[in-house]
Amino acid sequence: MIFKGDRERLHKLKCTILAAAFLIASLSLAGCFETRSPRTARSQANAEVKPGTPTEASPTPTLTPTPDPKDDAVKLASEVGLTEEDLRGKYDLFIRYAEVVGSNPEFKGRREFIYHLFPVIAEHLKSENEEFFFGKVKELKITQKHTDGIDGQYIQTENKIELDPDLETRMGKEAYSSVFYHELMHFIDLNIAGSGLEGYACLMDDGSIRKHGDLDYGEMRHMKDYLYSYFIEGGAEMYTSEYFTYAPNSYLPRVRFLVGMKYIFGVEKIDNMFFDVDTDYQFAQLLMANGFTTEETVKVFMAMRNTPDALSEPKTLIDPREVLIRLYINNVGPDYEKDKTFCLILGSMNESDLNKIPSDYSKFYTKLSGVSQEDVLQVWGYLTNIVGDYDVQWGFIGLPAPLYLNGELKLAVTAGPTEGNKLDYKAVVVDYDFEKNEIKDITIHEKWSPEPLPDL
Ligand SMILES: [Zn+2]
Repeated sequence: MIFKGDRERLHKLKCTILAAAFLIASLSLAGCFETRSPRTARSQANAEVKPGTPTEASPTPTLTPTPDPKDDAVKLASEVGLTEEDLRGKYDLFIRYAEVVGSNPEFKGRREFIYHLFPVIAEHLKSENEEFFFGKVKELKITQKHTDGIDGQYIQTENKIELDPDLETRMGKEAYSSVFYHELMHFIDLNIAGSGLEGYACLMDDGSIRKHGDLDYGEMRHMKDYLYSYFIEGGAEMYTSEYFTYAPNSYLPRVRFLVGMKYIFGVEKIDNMFFDVDTDYQFAQLLMANGFTTEETVKVFMAMRNTPDALSEPKTLIDPREVLIRLYINNVGPDYEKDKTFCLILGSMNESDLNKIPSDYSKFYTKLSGVSQEDVLQVWGYLTNIVGDYDVQWGFIGLPAPLYLNGELKLAVTAGPTEGNKLDYKAVVVDYDFEKNEIKDITIHEKWSPEPLPDL
């Protein structure tokens, strides 16, 4: 069922959507991840437990082994709000995880969020990294701290998540969940395959790119900078959407870049890269294997830096959309201009900041604008109609754009009221025919936060 208004109303709505999209975009959640400066991080790294080394002070839980742990695991799962499907068949692992979660007093009042991470863990934790990762879960700190302009952050060197104490009152319960899950996803990303500091990509004085863990003491003195790509923030937000919220609400161009990477290379390859220990180093290797020179690869990373001034010198950068096009040509074929889905992904990255970066392909991709106005209106009309409260004005954070959910490409967008005190966000997911540019079905996901669990 799709709501369609009359022409005059449609025109009025169009203006409303554009204004609302802008308004909400400025309120977009600012999740963040922080590492120390290279010097501090280096000394921290030396003191850090090496990947996979079980030296964390976490004694192996002394469970009485049972022949089949399934019954116990499923019973325990249902007590904490998970289904049997959420366990992904990893019953022993879940029982062990539950013991670790129960042993960390920092999770008081938030245990339900930590339990709901289990499907992500079950799908990506390798047995050789269990000791290291569970040690990090056991010691994860979660504090409330107000830092200007930041809703939440994960500080890797302290293994600590900080959340803005006013977040829930300011933005609503679902936004709080979305930020918390985003930070927890950083925690998983940076610890699930061993120590992330070891896997960082480093730019050396001579312009080469090396992996931090491969540098000896002498070489470390010649390290100029760490290199960060869209994987860290875009990945945290994209996997938060895939597992918990159904639509992204921050770092949108970065999420879309990664959707484009999945479109070119397949979902599994990009999933494996993100959850591996040396994601950015692998990304650098992938670029160079696809014809990017080392110098060009550094330019790609510089365009993707997680800093406000990252785009201050656009002429020295390479646009992420050019990256996608060149990777497409090299891996799929030359006809990228005829691939409607690919063009929709490129169009959803049309941002004024990125458009300052010169590119041989810019004449093509700056003409693309993502999903059509008519489709946006249909989605907006459906939402307004279903919610049924015409006193509340709804807007989108960004516009509906491609996102993989359960391995299938959909269109997704986060919606929120632009005024009043009904704060909670919703995700609108569109089952879309990308060839015919037609909406097939629309689903709204309203509840992102897990049921609260009683304190132990
Ligand atoms: Zn973040």
